[in-house]
Amino acid sequence: MRVLIAGDMEGVAGITRWDQVMAGKPLYEEGRRLYTAEINAAVRGAFAAGADEVVVMDCHGAGGDASFNSLIYDELDERCEAVVQDEWTGYTEMLEQGCDAALFVGMHAMAGAARGVLSHTVSGTSWRNLFFNGTRVGETGINAALCGTWGCPVLLVTGDDVVCEEARALLGAELGTVTVKRGLGRFSARHLAPARARAAIEDAARRVLAQSPAVKPYDPGRPCEVLVELAAPEHASKYRHRDGVELRDARTVAATAPDWLSAWRRIYF
Ligand SMILES: [Zn+2]
Repeated sequence: MRVLIAGDMEGVAGITRWDQVMAGKPLYEEGRRLYTAEINAAVRGAFAAGADEVVVMDCHGAGGDASFNSLIYDELDERCEAVVQDEWTGYTEMLEQGCDAALFVGMHAMAGAARGVLSHTVSGTSWRNLFFNGTRVGETGINAALCGTWGCPVLLVTGDDVVCEEARALLGAELGTVTVKRGLGRFSARHLAPARARAAIEDAARRVLAQSPAVKPYDPGRPCEVLVELAAPEHASKYRHRDGVELRDARTVAATAPDWLSAWRRIYF
């Protein structure tokens, strides 16, 4: 069994503020330790369920050279391997080769979600809303669609209660989730102690991988329209002459393609 673990930082127990997830800030090193420990918990669960190969992929844009590079590699479980990618959604090799399941650890809710801790979609400053064929999605939807492109189901999502609910609504009620904190607001939460959060993640990872997949791979539909409501008209200017991208109004851009990945690449890369 081959397992991909995609990680983000904002949904980790103990993390509530931007300074814990932005490179160079005093609290970032604490955030990295908490993040790496939760990833390791998922790795342990995957191996306990019988995984032969576990690859960890950091999806957190911490800024500069820390982007997609926030894990403390020296502390990673020695049985897994870790990918540092140039661009988010850029690394697809593991999925292309055939991957049995994906686990998403440390996820945050979509932009605008009430109580979603550190909620945003792609960019807190330039993106407001994202839709796949009319369904509003957050970053869980993006990662799930990437995995779904190669038929890989997402079996576990961890983060605050808001993203867990968002993920079940999108991927199905059978999805495994671990709520490591309850969102009280965008910058406030009631957390499990990190040690308990890790135990719950390890247990859930083992459980979802030990049974036959309860959730189907996510496909937003074919053809697929990816539509972004940007925060302000100036953010639309870079899309103005881009092939296959249409400006619907001063700050709304859309791309339609035969499949999700092709539409996404027109917008994102
Ligand atoms: Zn992030």
